[in-house]
Amino acid sequence: MRDLSAGPRVLLKRLRELMAEPLEPQERLDRIVRQIANNMVAEVCSCYVLRSDGVLELYATEGLNKDAVHLAQLKMGQGLVGTIAASAQPLNLSDAQAHPAFRYLPETGEEIYHSFLGVPILRAGRSLGVLVVQNKAQRNYREDEVEALETTAMVLAEMIATGELKKLTRPGLELDLTRPVSIEGDSYSEGIGLGHVVLHEPRIVVTNLLNEDADKEIRKLVEAIGSLRLSIDDMLSRREISMEGEHREVLETYRMFAHDQGWVRRMEEAIRNGLTAEAAVEKVQSDTKARMMRLTDPYLRERMHDFDDLANRLLRQLTGFSSQSMAEGLPTDAIIFARAMGAAELLDYPRGNVRGLVLEDGAVTSHIVIVAKAMGIAVVGQAAGAVALAENGDTAIIDGDDGKVHVRPVADLVKAYEEKVRLRARRQEQFRALRDVEPVTKDGKRIKLQMNAGLLVDLPQLSESGAEGIGLFRTELQFMISSTMPKADEQENFYRSVLKQAEGRPVTFRTLDIGGDKVLPYFRGHEEENPALGWRAIRLSLDRPGLLRTQLRALLKAAAGAELKMMLPMVTEVSEIRAVRELMQKEVQHLSKFGHQLPKKLQFGAMLEVPALLWQLDALMNEVDFVSVGSNDLFQFTMAVDRGNARVADRFDVLGKPFLRILRDIVRAGERNNTPVTLCGEIAGRPLSAMALMGIGFRSISMSPTAIGPIKAMLLALDVDRLAAGLNAALDDDAGLVSPRDLLVQFANDHEIPV
Ligand code: PEP
Ligand code: MG
Repeated sequence: MRDLSAGPRVLLKRLRELMAEPLEPQERLDRIVRQIANNMVAEVCSCYVLRSDGVLELYATEGLNKDAVHLAQLKMGQGLVGTIAASAQPLNLSDAQAHPAFRYLPETGEEIYHSFLGVPILRAGRSLGVLVVQNKAQRNYREDEVEALETTAMVLAEMIATGELKKLTRPGLELDLTRPVSIEGDSYSEGIGLGHVVLHEPRIVVTNLLNEDADKEIRKLVEAIGSLRLSIDDMLSRREISMEGEHREVLETYRMFAHDQGWVRRMEEAIRNGLTAEAAVEKVQSDTKARMMRLTDPYLRERMHDFDDLANRLLRQLTGFSSQSMAEGLPTDAIIFARAMGAAELLDYPRGNVRGLVLEDGAVTSHIVIVAKAMGIAVVGQAAGAVALAENGDTAIIDGDDGKVHVRPVADLVKAYEEKVRLRARRQEQFRALRDVEPVTKDGKRIKLQMNAGLLVDLPQLSESGAEGIGLFRTELQFMISSTMPKADEQENFYRSVLKQAEGRPVTFRTLDIGGDKVLPYFRGHEEENPALGWRAIRLSLDRPGLLRTQLRALLKAAAGAELKMMLPMVTEVSEIRAVRELMQKEVQHLSKFGHQLPKKLQFGAMLEVPALLWQLDALMNEVDFVSVGSNDLFQFTMAVDRGNARVADRFDVLGKPFLRILRDIVRAGERNNTPVTLCGEIAGRPLSAMALMGIGFRSISMSPTAIGPIKAMLLALDVDRLAAGLNAALDDDAGLVSPRDLLVQFANDHEIPV
């Protein structure tokens, strides 16, 4: 038998010529398999391609019965070929028939062949098909032959990815790569978007697969790995990175991978087999990914992402790819797909071009989601595998209402969603028509509707939504999207712009609410076991008075001559409010001493988010000018459910008796003490729960700007006194079995209230 390694290089050279020839796809594929068979001295070479229905179809063969082409087929996981595709691993057998998965396909006449070597045709870790060689004699294929066949499979992966083989599919069938897929995730921000996929970290497409000079390519690779290692060392030595924590851990993992000799060796081998340096990186990346994708251990899966990132860095280095060029060609209907993403990165995209955001990770309260929500962008989170399943430019639909993502949707689905979008637009139009209508209930109660904000991009929504003011301005967002701590004058300028754009409408600034899940990259405390119960918000501000005083001064200066409304997050004891007041007094004195103009009125409030305050309600109301209920946190702490943990966050009902009773006690304390009470958590923006709030006595709420219209529509149809009578009776009835939610739904139905 001839030495099979006569050469992968010769084979690839021949394939390169075949790829360049003007041939029909079937002819090209037939010649490719013939070439492989010849070169590998195999009696058979066959190529199977995965269809969207999970079937592997024989697309070309040299050696098996040619009449079986496009007829012989195996299901994913079935037979040797199906096993290879499902496991994304090669099979190297000296006696194929003895393998338990062997399945005889009579139409191919393959029983006379004993040895079998099959490799998956991979792209980004996904199996697109299987390439097989067979011999009559029993033999074991050598490692370098396996490697050579895998390298050859890359050429076929490219043919499939470029759509060339699509032309060979029979009518009514399609290839797996172009198969429509639906991904179930979680709804993080409502809205529906139809558009085109933009991979936040674009997959680098290697077009130059086959090398002319292996030594030159190896030098290129070694050089690129050298600079990659240096850049990681450089990142690790930078001072901004604290000595502990997740960020460092990731970089250490990168360093470990970058110095992994096995990785480098595998890439060098692929180059020796004929690939360019970049194609070798891609090949080894794809093989590793395919293997690691099957891991279920979350820690190891995370490491897979690290490895993938690292390989991408290397690819960028070798191809000179810059993401800049991507931004230029951004479609006007972009649906961004990312594994994870920082809030600032989202703001780098032109707002007008973004219709949705799909995240593989993330939690509903993560920074990026807060920012996306504020910008009115639909977000689906926990969309497993989304990035690998989508290609740049694919059509896609994001359904932020139901937490679904559809990639390459079929025409009927597109039509259904277009209809949904039209309906939504019509509803929005109706809500817009309500913009200047006063929010007065059917029985004449005037309700104050304000919006939540945190960035300058939110401000135009003030007049568009018809909100009366900003009931919650989350000042930490400016800090979260900045790479360094905003300086005193930056804070002051920012607050001044907010007040200017609010054009006299009231703005309630909340002092820094960092800590917990709101982490600043440049300001790290110690790792905490329970960050939600840890060093955060007002606690952190009181322990770092310099930080708080800078912010207070910036607020006082920005509101010179106007009214300043501010409130404190996460207050637990009334004494904390007093402590901040004292600091505030010092700032006022300081500013007056240096002749600065002060705000003409100062309103000082507290957020009610910690249950301990429920037993200090009168003392609290005595201490402040107003109270704002942060129902997101108050619910989290009352029910002991982590608001960011999807498994428990919705376990208990916010409209259940316990929580509604608590909220009612707060309103009553406000009435008793003549202290205005408002509520700015998520429930204010949902019509049914906002209706409940009215029923228990709230007359002021603050919500995301897109909710103002639907809430106003609900209010206009609501007879509050009537609802209050029934709801209060149900809440007072200890033994009553009717849940307040059922009662509310019934009431809305009976009175045709849009909820
Ligand atoms: C809340 O807790 O309800 C609230 C409005 O604050 P945040 O969501 O910013 O914690
Ligand atoms: Mg809160």
